[in-house]
Amino acid sequence: MLHDTRNRDIGYLRLSVTAACQLRCIYCRPAFHRNHTPGMLTPQEFGHIADHLIDLHGVKKVRITGGDPTARSDLPEIIQRIAQCHPDIDLAMSTNGLAMDRLAGVCKSAGLKRVNISLDTLDEATFEQLSSKRGIEHVIAGIDASLAAGLAPVKLNMVVMRGINDGQIPEMVAFAAARKVQLRFIELMPMGPLAGNWQQYYLSADHIRRRIEPITLSWRPLQQGAASSRNFHVILRDGQTVTLGFITPMSCNFCGSCNRLRISCTGEIFPCLMDQPRGSLLSALRPKYDPVKFDALLAAALQEKAAEHPHDGFVTMTSIGG
Ligand code: SAM
Repeated sequence: MLHDTRNRDIGYLRLSVTAACQLRCIYCRPAFHRNHTPGMLTPQEFGHIADHLIDLHGVKKVRITGGDPTARSDLPEIIQRIAQCHPDIDLAMSTNGLAMDRLAGVCKSAGLKRVNISLDTLDEATFEQLSSKRGIEHVIAGIDASLAAGLAPVKLNMVVMRGINDGQIPEMVAFAAARKVQLRFIELMPMGPLAGNWQQYYLSADHIRRRIEPITLSWRPLQQGAASSRNFHVILRDGQTVTLGFITPMSCNFCGSCNRLRISCTGEIFPCLMDQPRGSLLSALRPKYDPVKFDALLAAALQEKAAEHPHDGFVTMTSIGG
């Protein structure tokens, strides 16, 4: 098992396979961000990274993220390259869901096990306000296609913003309960375009929970493990049940047990989501995979893994993938 200098086990690899995304979410992506990134890693190179960390360092969980992974036409090859060599690994993906009506079955056949889909609203006008695009019906079709393809579990992620989508929380809970999918509420982080004025929109998990309580009968905490989400089995007043989660990077950070290592689509190493990259794996992958060099670069980067994430982010999630 890989450790950092604070003795945190590093067992979770997040591969951002592209910085491109179909959306321009106001909390995530600067409007001027271009979709083309020269020199992106190939499926084979992502495969070497996964092989190295799984086979030599005991990583147990790999998440494919972005940008949006579905913006890459060779996404099935990336999934297949990792899944074929590691059929037992927990292989997950995060996506905005827009292309999943077309891709859910393909991803499942390639070896993807589960998926997290961003869903901040069910309302088309709010979707457009948040993401500069229309098409919420495609996201909903993508959720249904993911369920139909057998990706399990399907989890929904909602970034809650005061005055923008906080009024829609009960409706989102009802949607998740009807579909029998987990819904996780993410506290807004001071990154990307809102780094300077995030407080205007920020709502804590406690505040979000108080918005939900009027429609619920009971909350039972579920075991957390190494996950970043605090989950509850909730019984609603209408008799339905749902699993709700809270991801609290701001009100109660989980840095002390952070087990993540993030690699960007060009091979940069991000030991902390809100910090600068601490080196690059490129010279260990090109012209050919070099495991000794890989380990030296990895060790140097992990030396720099922050004890806690900073509270002002000059990086954006577009290159790191959440
Ligand atoms: N496009 C994919 C998706 O939608 O899941 C993967 C990348 S996206 C950057 C990963 C997650 O980060 C999404 O759930 C997104 O809502 C969240 N995110 C992006 N910027 C954020 C911010 N400033 N605060 C909180 N969450 C953020």
